[in-house]
Amino acid sequence: MKDDQIWKVVLDQLELRVSRSNFLTWFRNTSITDRADGMVTIETKNPFAHVWLSKKYRSLILETLQGVDTTIADVKFSVPSQTTAQRVVKKNVRIVAQKNQPLPTTDNQQPSTPTRIGRGAGASSSSIPLNAKYTFDTFVVGTSNEIAHAACRAVANRPGEAYNPLFIYGGVGLGKTHLLQAVGNAILDANPSFTVMYVASEKFANEFVESLQEQTTQQFKKRYRNVDVLIIDDVQFFAGKDKTQEELFYTFNSLYGQNKQLILSSDRPPSAIPTLQERLSSRLAAGMIADIKKPDYETRLAILQEKRDLRGVPIDQDVLVFIAKNVQSNVRDLEGAFNQVAGHSEFHNEKVTIEQTKRILKDTLTKPQRKTINVQEIIDAISSYYNISHTDLCGKSRKKEIVRPRQVAMYLLRKESSMSFPSIGEHFSGRDHTTAMHACEKIEKLIEQDEELSQEVLFLRERIYA
Ligand code: ADP
Ligand code: MG
Repeated sequence: MKDDQIWKVVLDQLELRVSRSNFLTWFRNTSITDRADGMVTIETKNPFAHVWLSKKYRSLILETLQGVDTTIADVKFSVPSQTTAQRVVKKNVRIVAQKNQPLPTTDNQQPSTPTRIGRGAGASSSSIPLNAKYTFDTFVVGTSNEIAHAACRAVANRPGEAYNPLFIYGGVGLGKTHLLQAVGNAILDANPSFTVMYVASEKFANEFVESLQEQTTQQFKKRYRNVDVLIIDDVQFFAGKDKTQEELFYTFNSLYGQNKQLILSSDRPPSAIPTLQERLSSRLAAGMIADIKKPDYETRLAILQEKRDLRGVPIDQDVLVFIAKNVQSNVRDLEGAFNQVAGHSEFHNEKVTIEQTKRILKDTLTKPQRKTINVQEIIDAISSYYNISHTDLCGKSRKKEIVRPRQVAMYLLRKESSMSFPSIGEHFSGRDHTTAMHACEKIEKLIEQDEELSQEVLFLRERIYA
């Protein structure tokens, strides 16, 4: 077989073994460029993927290659060598193009005001100013967030060129907003003349609807389409907002067409946002997608140490260890617990002991880790997550987009409320207990293979227990 045939077969198989977003991110634009003496060289156009492929996917790729051609013994990864000259030229062209662009007009601002939208006094009425405390310096990197962090760094170094769009997703309180703002801050530091716009999705949506009512959509469009960097936080809020999605789609195209950087965040991958129009979803997924997971113990401890140093409050290591061990939900809660302890220490002007820490955090920690879950909560969570009515979810429809969520519901009912199979079946229009059993087995198996589904279920659990 020829190299490209082998690679096609391998890609077909890999596509089945990794999630869609991972597949697109890491395996798009890859090819075999060399094969000699059992050594296969795989080239990727994406310099970051190069590292990631060799770190995380090496054995899977090798195993799959060997399944196709048993003479293959090893695999290495390369990126096309791009000369610095090419880069410089590209950059110059970009800057020239920008200079010719009109300055963004903003409402309460004279045209001569520096266009430091996003930070401090120069902020336009529509953007929330960037928070100066959210920087890369104060962001602790661990295995849970290293890809997202590296991607954000890359974008900060080469806005509009590294990954566009950049899409960061992860559960609540895991550092999305911090990272997004860190990119904005870093870009502004390096390029003071840039216009960086940070906006929460709800605000974008509200402003757009207002502009429709007040017939000021031209101003709205101008405001969002004349920036160098557009950061939109929590795009899951666009679910079901058709007009706003349409506007975002056009904003996206306009900025993307000018090589302007787009950065978005959400609590889940684009494909899992219900009622996000297909074309928008595929636009958002077209660049780099990176997720942030819950921090592990080491990262939690490192974050606490960072917070202690930042605040300059003396807190003993064993107290931090106690907090890191006991607060596992997310960084926001971790920070909350830290602040309680630090506050106590500052107020009483004394170092807190472990015993005091236990007392201070008593309420926080005794919140039952696993409260008892009732059926309604699970049904509610599923129905709002997938945007399906209770009637449909528990009804008889065999439509694909309802069957899967229904199976997930059955699975979670079984796992989280230990309901019997017959009563689960009963709950879904009197289905047989074997249907419930079958659904649970199926989801259990799928979770093993399908990373996206496994994320969804994780997310739903978090919601249920929130
Ligand atoms: P999200 O937007 O994902 O809900 P945030 O970015 O608001 O989460 O993070 C919640 C809090 O936790 C913020 O105060 C943020 O500074 C802090 N935080 C999150 N991740 C980290 C990290 N890796 N290092 C330091 N602080 C973090
Ligand atoms: Mg946030």
